[in-house]
Amino acid sequence: MLGLLAAGFATSAAGSAVIAAAHRWGRRRDPLADANAFIAACIAVMAALGLVNLLTARPDVAWPVATASHLVLGIVVAGVFCLTRIVADRSWRVSRRVMLLLAVQPAAELVLAVTNPRHHLLYTGLRPGAWDVLVPAPGPAFPVSAVYLYVLLTAGVVRVVRARRRAPRGRRELYDWTLAGFVPPGLAGASAALPVPVPDLTALGLGVTALITYRMLVRSLSQHIQVAHGQVFDSMTDAVAVLDRDGRILDLNAAARDLLARTVPGLPERLEGRVITEIRGFDLALTEGTDTEQTLTDTRGRRVDLHVRASVLRDRRGDAVGWALVGRDVTELNRRRREAEESAARLREQLRVNEALRTDLAEQAVRDALTGLHNRRHLVDTLEREARRAAGEGAPLSLAIIDVDHFKRINDTYGHGGGDAVLVRLAGLLADSVRQGDVVARYGGEEFVLLLPGVTEESAWRLVERLRERTGRTAIEVDGRALTVTFSAGVAGLAAGGSTEDLLRAADAALYEAKRRGRDRVERAGSAPSGGPVETPAVPSGDRRSDPAHLTTGPAHLATGEAA
Ligand code: GH3
Ligand code: MG
Ligand code: MG
Repeated sequence: MLGLLAAGFATSAAGSAVIAAAHRWGRRRDPLADANAFIAACIAVMAALGLVNLLTARPDVAWPVATASHLVLGIVVAGVFCLTRIVADRSWRVSRRVMLLLAVQPAAELVLAVTNPRHHLLYTGLRPGAWDVLVPAPGPAFPVSAVYLYVLLTAGVVRVVRARRRAPRGRRELYDWTLAGFVPPGLAGASAALPVPVPDLTALGLGVTALITYRMLVRSLSQHIQVAHGQVFDSMTDAVAVLDRDGRILDLNAAARDLLARTVPGLPERLEGRVITEIRGFDLALTEGTDTEQTLTDTRGRRVDLHVRASVLRDRRGDAVGWALVGRDVTELNRRRREAEESAARLREQLRVNEALRTDLAEQAVRDALTGLHNRRHLVDTLEREARRAAGEGAPLSLAIIDVDHFKRINDTYGHGGGDAVLVRLAGLLADSVRQGDVVARYGGEEFVLLLPGVTEESAWRLVERLRERTGRTAIEVDGRALTVTFSAGVAGLAAGGSTEDLLRAADAALYEAKRRGRDRVERAGSAPSGGPVETPAVPSGDRRSDPAHLTTGPAHLATGEAA
């Protein structure tokens, strides 16, 4: 039996030492593990002392061993007290004050133990116990110390029991294991009640406790996670509600409570057990996988946009057991989105205006300000393009230069403004008479150009001729007076291999010919010069436009042409 006991003490000492080390160098360091490491280390010392006590029956050894062992027991109890407090409240830490208070008993006992030979208050002497082991006989101070230790242990047990009662049903394992740890030393301590004095077996029981608490700490990892889940649940900024199948509230996180309190006036005190769809002002449809957005008004009258997602919760068999609602306050998000949309719309409008301005500017650059017709620059560009195309396609291209007859006189008679009005009207007439794809441009002062892609010189001549007749028939009103103007024109077709300069020159020459032949007529570059009536002898050189003969001769249709 003695051998068995010795083996038990040895195992307890070694096992506790290993556990202490495992905690100390284990991966998970936390206050609970630290407390358990401390306790296990003390138990290892106690068990080692117990082993020595068993194996030597000498009084000079039995004395210090028994005294030291009891001292260590006091320290173990203090450690157990701290451990129970941490188990009951994971945020509890050993303060300096608590440490000092807990040190009072071991210190007092140390003093008593050292001075015991003088007063025998702690132990009265040694007596032979079972298996010839020497067991100290307790003195009058011993029960005081024992009662203190039991009070400390009882306080710890009470705390754990209370915490266990508060914990949800599935989260009680930690407390159960902690309470189980009290059983082995309790049973071992009961051996003191045996009629024969036996050596202190507490270290044996505590060895088992060290094992139990170690296992508990390793196992409680999952519990830590559950605790963490709870904390996460409450620290989420999204409102989360867990409902049963009928929409009855089972659990709400802090954000959900806060949201309901903010938006539902006269909210009932207790929300658990209430059907969420029946809470007034919180209108919500429970449909699987739906994302709904609703606008609420909080108690201060401000708008709250809430985005709610409802998901069905299922058990292991896949049966629907309830709902999880996640609500997110998207007021700020919506506001920002609206702002972004508004500024995007403003930007689009700005872009549109800019684009319009740009187009307008580009258009202005190719338009003549007075008549609105295309200007000379545009004509030159288009002429180049059309000439290339005509050459490529082998299609005809014709051009007519139109020059108002005796325009100086109009200016002289009606003023520059009157002349402008005539130019505007004539421009309108020309623009109305051409097809899509033709170009009418103001070429210079009172000169216009018609560019006619796909039209032969012959057809172009006929077209301009018709235009000339129409112009001569059309009365133009200037300053309340109606007048008619005539023009002369030269028409030319693009010759094969000819350049645009050639074309312009040919048309200009034809125009000159028209002027020379008396104005108010259209000449073709391609037609052989006819011997028609000539106003004046041909001008050999110089600008026909500065030729005073044009002004002084020719039909004075201006003077006579004023419509009645
Ligand atoms: P013709 O062509 O029949 O030989 O005689 P014309 O009087 O038309 O002669 P010319 O081509 O030499 O004169 C053109 C005049 O047109 C000269 C100029 O004062 C006038 N003119 C040029 N540009 C404008 C303009 O924008 N507005 C007005 N009102 N007159 C202009
Ligand atoms: Mg002219
Ligand atoms: Mg003229």
